[in-house]
Amino acid sequence: MICTNVTQSGAIYGYWQIAPDTWCITNRWKNFMYLIEGEEKAVLIDTGDGEGNIREVTEKITKKPVMAVNTHGHFDHTGGNPCWPEVWMTKEAALHAKEPFDDLHRQWYNNKRYPDYQIRYFEEGETIELGGRSLEVISIPAHSEGSVAFLDDRMRYLFCGDELEGGQVIWFVRNEPAALKEQALMHKKNMEKLMSRLDEFDWIWPAHNGAPLFPLPYLQDFIELDLKIMEGTQDVQKNTAGFGFPEDHHAVPNLFYSYGKLKRASNGLANVVYSEAESVYLTGK
Ligand SMILES: [Zn+2]
Repeated sequence: MICTNVTQSGAIYGYWQIAPDTWCITNRWKNFMYLIEGEEKAVLIDTGDGEGNIREVTEKITKKPVMAVNTHGHFDHTGGNPCWPEVWMTKEAALHAKEPFDDLHRQWYNNKRYPDYQIRYFEEGETIELGGRSLEVISIPAHSEGSVAFLDDRMRYLFCGDELEGGQVIWFVRNEPAALKEQALMHKKNMEKLMSRLDEFDWIWPAHNGAPLFPLPYLQDFIELDLKIMEGTQDVQKNTAGFGFPEDHHAVPNLFYSYGKLKRASNGLANVVYSEAESVYLTGK
């Protein structure tokens, strides 16, 4: 099968320019990927779920070589990786980056040019130089081990993957189980770390559910929410546990039912969804 970027039902990808030399690419699953161009090369932050060929989309936008990087290892961020012979991520992200969520993802993965692509590692504090512009790697793992944000020094943007967003941060998809309060502590430390660098970025660009976000209210609300969860005093919304699913959604097979009963805790703009069971990453295997 040949990968194309148009299906019978329409285009898989769309994109728009969000700033000079900076684009948001989205797919029909509404993932947000970001293409950041410097004078020598461009970086694609996350590659989506792998439908079609996202590399072709980036090559329509820029003539410079594109380096693909991942905020973390979930397949809706790594699915397009095999369009490139090598992709950069953290060691922890690499543990699951090549594991499709389901058979459809696996089919897309296997149809790519480089299914055995090489994984290259970066770490906290490293800087990716694009020529007159750089992205700093900032480690913020909670939603997933090995999650990073990228700080764009030219545009003063922070690209944060799934660790902070306007919909909800999901806490039941880690590689290894983590108790709820432990996870809240990890997340709180990350939010405080970002708060301590607030003078370096003006906008936050998550990978799902709307962007950009104005940093301060989100960071404050998440820190408070994390603290409440650590203390066991969080407000839990009734009947909106997951993504609008009813509280008993786990009784009906759907994408998330196998994670058990989900709860949504809210504080101002901040929302976290967690499982009553331990937080375990499940693949489509
Ligand atoms: Zn994720």
